Amino acid sequence: MAGIELKSNVPAGELKQKWSDFKGTMNLVAPNNKRRIEVIVVGTGLAGASAAATLGELGYQVKAFTFHDSPRRAHSIAAQGGINAAKNYQNDGDSIYRLFYDTIKGGDYRSREANVYRLAEVSADIIDQCVAQGVPFAREYGGLLANRSFGGVQVSRTFYARGQTGQQLLIGAYQALSRQISTGQVSMYNRHEMLDLVKIDGKARGIITRNLLTGKLEKHAAHCVVLATGGYGNVFYLSTNAMGSNVSAAWRGVRRGALMANPCFTQIHPTCIPVSGEYQSKLTLMSESLRNDGRVWVPKSKEDAIAIREGRKKGNDIAEEDRDYYLERRYPAFGNLVPRDVASRAAKVACDAGNGVAPTGLAVFLDFASAIERYGKAAAHSKNINNPSKAEITKLGKAVVEGKYGNLFEMYEKITGENPYENPMKIYPAVHYTMGGLWVDYNLQTNVPGLFALGEANFSDHGANRLGASALMQGLADGYFVIPYTIGQFLSKEIRTPKISADAPEFAAAEKDVQDRLNQLMSIKGNQSVESFHRRLGKIMWEYCGMSRNAEGLKKGRQMIRELREEFYKDVFIPGDANEFNPELEKATKVADFLELGEVMMCDALDRNESCGGHFREEYKSEEGEAQRNDKDFTYVSAWEWNETQPVLHKEELAFKNVELKTRSYK
Ligand SMILES: Cc1cc2nc3c(=O)[nH]c(=O)nc-3n(C[C@H](O)[C@H](O)[C@H](O)COP(=O)(O)OP(=O)(O)OC[C@H]3O[C@@H](n4cnc5c(N)ncnc54)[C@H](O)[C@@H]3O)c2cc1C
Repeated sequence: MAGIELKSNVPAGELKQKWSDFKGTMNLVAPNNKRRIEVIVVGTGLAGASAAATLGELGYQVKAFTFHDSPRRAHSIAAQGGINAAKNYQNDGDSIYRLFYDTIKGGDYRSREANVYRLAEVSADIIDQCVAQGVPFAREYGGLLANRSFGGVQVSRTFYARGQTGQQLLIGAYQALSRQISTGQVSMYNRHEMLDLVKIDGKARGIITRNLLTGKLEKHAAHCVVLATGGYGNVFYLSTNAMGSNVSAAWRGVRRGALMANPCFTQIHPTCIPVSGEYQSKLTLMSESLRNDGRVWVPKSKEDAIAIREGRKKGNDIAEEDRDYYLERRYPAFGNLVPRDVASRAAKVACDAGNGVAPTGLAVFLDFASAIERYGKAAAHSKNINNPSKAEITKLGKAVVEGKYGNLFEMYEKITGENPYENPMKIYPAVHYTMGGLWVDYNLQTNVPGLFALGEANFSDHGANRLGASALMQGLADGYFVIPYTIGQFLSKEIRTPKISADAPEFAAAEKDVQDRLNQLMSIKGNQSVESFHRRLGKIMWEYCGMSRNAEGLKKGRQMIRELREEFYKDVFIPGDANEFNPELEKATKVADFLELGEVMMCDALDRNESCGGHFREEYKSEEGEAQRNDKDFTYVSAWEWNETQPVLHKEELAFKNVELKTRSYK
């Protein structure tokens, strides 16, 4: 694919006008033509369900696919803390520009201005849409919608439904989708996994799926294909993602010519329950919302840290003056609410210095004692309790904290056996989100005509680091408000294209490719489980392409992945048969794709000789240990073409006309 020109297709004009001008002048598809046009949407998380429902409502014939048994099982359901919107309900200085600016800065100046501005613009509509659907956002006493803060910002713009925001939003999107399913506008295919993309004359025209219950391969045709298949954090094996989250649909797109953008930009979330053993297969997030009230610290002295690690002391035994609230000390302007990349690195620095507090030495404290006291005093005051006792204050304060974060505290206690109201939580960074994804233009179209990507599956809006509560915003912006317009740019040229037939030879060829791939995997009959390969891949990724990276390690990591891939194809063992329900085979196809993606991630991280956002190259840091960007040479989006011998890099240069490129500072 030499000489691919990556056209962002950003409309001309003033930043603030681009989206409304675009909507006012874009090509339309008339209702009578919409009825004849078929659209495949793969994925029914927040991005996919909102897209499928809205495209159905518009009149397109939609076929929606998920490997889950119901759209409501998508990983989006796990989202805890909230969703951003520039509503300025708090009257604290928020605006569309400020959300745009925070997002560009938070992403360390590695995202496209026009896409991010549009995201900020439509953010307010999302809240209205969801309220109209009945999403039970938290409200103030007087009935107004409540907000809290997330990292990297100085306003409160995060809307939330306790610690279950994703679940509530997904129920809203699912309702809208169900309505379209009931009218026949959307045909729903649960337990169907996309295993290949079908192109005809260079355009995406369908997919090959496997019915996961029967093992049967199926061909599905449409005028275009929308992928909303989520992120690939599970390439690290251990992550906060749902166990089923994977890269395969996107990667099959890459294998058919789409480009993977910024694959090495991974978000490591600072507040997760630390790893506790070798056989763990899942990590649990403690929402960033907790940093509104929780204070992060480690003991100042290594002796205290060792005593805690060995169980001789507890966090509460450490006197106030012997604690290092290192985020408040290092970043006074943002304190505990610095962005995730900054907070994660700071935790690593504290633990690497020997001040970590779990038996492994890999944990820091997240402490609610001050918040409990502060809220308790306020509650006593409003209840007219004069000179309340410490016990009264603590009781009242705990009730307030429970009201805000109760389900998260309960989850923590169930997993760790420790009561976080009594003792500070122990937390450590873990893989959480992938900013990288399929390269898309302003229309959310990949470089393959007719193939679109939404939500976490694309790379579009978060640059090198995503701000908290911005993924839900982006997924729903893409699905409810962006793709319903931008898809028309492609489909308006397809109104004369008759129904695409799955009998076309391209479908038979793609189906054969899939069958051959499955047969190859089944025939290996080796000695090692799929899981063991996945775990080993994850360790390589974490070690060499994790929270910090260097050139030597990345080269080594890449070589190790290539060797692991070779071993996989010689020695993996998959029981059962391809033509039946076979979860091991499902895992194997995913791990096979991760083994290719992992190599591209190493190449991407090696190419980017700078530190930015979640991509921290040890060679490029300031004297204070902060990330050091290189704007002169690296202000571009990396878009990778797969090639077994050497993946090929294509670049989209980024232009910043509305914000000044500055060193990101939260001090
Ligand atoms: C624990 C946790 C908490 C989070 N909290 C927040 C938060 O508070 N605020 C926030 O903004 N973000 C949060 N995030 C991030 C956010 O939840 C995700 O980025 C977002 O939900 C992704 O939505 P999506 O629609 O793009 O993908 P997903 O919800 O992952 O959906 C992917 C869909 O694709 C389908 N699929 C995938 N591959 C295939 C295939 N090959 N064939 C068929 N179907 C396929 C799946 O079945 C699923 O339906 C959190 C993430 C985690 C892990």
